[in-house]
Amino acid sequence: MKTLEVKAGNIIIGGDNPIVVQTMCNTHTSDVEASVAQCRRLAKAGAQLIRLTVPSMKEVDSMRKIKESLRAEGIDVPLVADVHFSSEIAIAVASVVEKVRINPGNFHKDHEKAREQFARLVAVCRENGTAIRIGINHGSLGERITGMYGNTPFGMKEAAMEWIGMCIENDFYNVVVSLKASNTIVMVEAYRLLADAMKENGVIFPVHLGVTEAGNGDSGRIKSIVGISALLAEGIGNTVRVSLTEDPQAELAPAQYLSDRYGRRLHSSMVSIQMEEKTAVATYSAPSRERLIEDIAADFGRLLIDRGIDNIIIKGSYRDENGTDIILDGSGFASYLADEMLQATRRRFYRPEYIACPGCGRTMYNLESTFNEVKRRTSHLKGMVIAVMGCIVNGPGEMADADWGYVGEGNGMVSIYRGKTPLLRHVPESEAIDRLLELIDKEEAAL
Ligand code: SF4
Repeated sequence: MKTLEVKAGNIIIGGDNPIVVQTMCNTHTSDVEASVAQCRRLAKAGAQLIRLTVPSMKEVDSMRKIKESLRAEGIDVPLVADVHFSSEIAIAVASVVEKVRINPGNFHKDHEKAREQFARLVAVCRENGTAIRIGINHGSLGERITGMYGNTPFGMKEAAMEWIGMCIENDFYNVVVSLKASNTIVMVEAYRLLADAMKENGVIFPVHLGVTEAGNGDSGRIKSIVGISALLAEGIGNTVRVSLTEDPQAELAPAQYLSDRYGRRLHSSMVSIQMEEKTAVATYSAPSRERLIEDIAADFGRLLIDRGIDNIIIKGSYRDENGTDIILDGSGFASYLADEMLQATRRRFYRPEYIACPGCGRTMYNLESTFNEVKRRTSHLKGMVIAVMGCIVNGPGEMADADWGYVGEGNGMVSIYRGKTPLLRHVPESEAIDRLLELIDKEEAAL
């Protein structure tokens, strides 16, 4: 899908340009030294755009210092300010960074005021050559949109088109759009609706792709690649972030894989495929475990999401880190990968479904180790949706359709949610997983 070109510093997103790889810092932005160190490391590892959270006016100044330090070192990676709940912060930081991400669901409570504030933001961006991302998330659509359209892919598309309309009204086109969701089916449908609507409208903005709260490890990578590749295969998507609850550097390899594969610089390691009714039997000769996982997710994600196939059987081999070829035929690992693919595409749930944010400068606890512990202790709860979120500001809104939520409050405290309702507040971190499991057990016993 040929889009407009958007300029963010030295990077062009859209048009015929390669798919841009991006990530986000998880440092506290106010910790300038740590943020500069992380940006330096990420830029060296291949990040082409780096986002940092700007939770208050204080961090606007931190962003300025971070940018100055990086530029003084000759690191010219464009910086993106991630802003929620304050249009004034977005306006203030727009003259500092190369791109500002706003969330229409929380840009301003009052819609008419939001239009005025957006016009002010556009004026600052125009003057400074700053790009904007209209970053809509399934979990935080805002009451006005959910009241009209429900919490649906259609509602996400309508919200995006409304804000795209505001960009066009303001004659401002340096804009990228995203419609992320944790549910891959919702995410793919929303982006497809958006692509059709933009084509019909005659102005096609570049698209940022991502699966939110995908978690970590194999499942986080598979879920992200399934959703993102389904769209890239259709020519939708100009920049990608693979959000993982891990060190942000870990996001770059799978994101680069997607950029290379859909930029036609890389081919699947699948050597043959046979169909047995609606089961695909695929044979691989993969150069590594990582590549095997990436190739399977990209080869079969779209087919499973669109119900072109119902199952996959994986055969062949991959090469491990010692150079040994590991045979997949009939192995537990091959069936685990097939199970993960069915879970990521929501065709069959063989374990709990986890939603975990990647963490950012708002996170006040060790998200990755807590998430791993929650996974370890809840692995028996097949089919249940459990969220582990880094902050109380965005966490409850972003955990979408989770049955249970573990949400960090800061200062060593946690809130436990049942759906959208907080059942326990101010639980010390050391007790929080126990309290969560007690509540789940109590409810299961009452059923
Ligand atoms: S939910 Fe997670 S990623 Fe989102 S703002 Fe909070 S800590 Fe950051």
